[in-house]
Amino acid sequence: MTVFLTIDAVTKRFGAVVAADAVSLSIGRGEILALLGPSGSGKTTMLRLLAGFETPDAGSIAVEGEDVTRVPPARRRFGMVFQHYALFPHLDVGENVAFGITGRGKGEGGRVEVERTVARVLELVDLGGFERRKVQELSGGQQQRVALARALAPEPRVLLLDEPLSNLDPALRERTRRELRQVIQRVKITTVFVTHEQEEAFDLGDRIAVLRDGRLEQIGTADELYERPTTLFVATFVGRANVLRGATARALGGKDGDVAVVRPEQLQFADAGVPGIVRERRYTGPAALFIVEGDRGERFEVLAEPGAARVGERVYVQATHVLSFADAGEVR
Ligand code: ATP
Repeated sequence: MTVFLTIDAVTKRFGAVVAADAVSLSIGRGEILALLGPSGSGKTTMLRLLAGFETPDAGSIAVEGEDVTRVPPARRRFGMVFQHYALFPHLDVGENVAFGITGRGKGEGGRVEVERTVARVLELVDLGGFERRKVQELSGGQQQRVALARALAPEPRVLLLDEPLSNLDPALRERTRRELRQVIQRVKITTVFVTHEQEEAFDLGDRIAVLRDGRLEQIGTADELYERPTTLFVATFVGRANVLRGATARALGGKDGDVAVVRPEQLQFADAGVPGIVRERRYTGPAALFIVEGDRGERFEVLAEPGAARVGERVYVQATHVLSFADAGEVR
């Protein structure tokens, strides 16, 4: 990985709140990084620090080795897509996209250059020929692409996206996510986006940085976070997790005094194991999620083939894989 963007020990306080707590991470050239975390974890603050809307109290931000920590937003050459797009309703699509580049060209030659750029970026986001359309006449997904085109028009070094898909209804999100990824890859632009949705982070991000209370909990690929979480918080925040303690944890193969985290697909029904009763069965096609109440009052989620058990049936649960964490009581 060729490092393109470096965040080095960045801290930002708002009064008593530490919104960024000595965060360090590197982003590769052309990489798509997701900032994932619960509400208030500092995702937006980190994006605003990158954009230059906030200045860190400590630490630095560099692009290709050039320190930009105190460079004003307009001079950073970072493109930003805001959560609600912030399109100008009184301007048409072409004027919206041209907004960030109109200052450049003077006279007829400049105008032609701007028009050419607008046409090119609109083509890039599959909105070729939409120049004269009114913003209000576009669907949510199309508006999102106009905002993306506007951000890309000045050829930024880094693209920043704040909750890029949260404005769209769920049915549209998956498709828009794919399109967004295609555009980013076509432009090969280093991208950082904020999301609180794991699925979005996994789908769109090459790597994901999990934030919590302003701190970086873990950074890695989706597989790494899911299969090898380094903290109990990440294990439970990323993916579904059964969190078990004490005798139940030990019975499933956890170590003494530890918290055991077991994914639903890592639990199975067997002839022996932790006893319980199936309380619910949620059919999801090729598999079903069984909610099992253990004899000690535990609640298990078991992902198994739909015919594996019936509601009301007495079952035994075994784990095929257990993640163990020191019990710090820190569970969502
Ligand atoms: P959300 O998903 O809800 O948008 P987030 O992860 O983006 O949350 P931030 O908006 O970065 O979190 O906020 C992190 C913390 O910093 C929160 O406790 C928030 O209240 C605080 N904070 C953010 N901006 C300011 C500000 N301008 N003034 C005071 N406190 C702020």
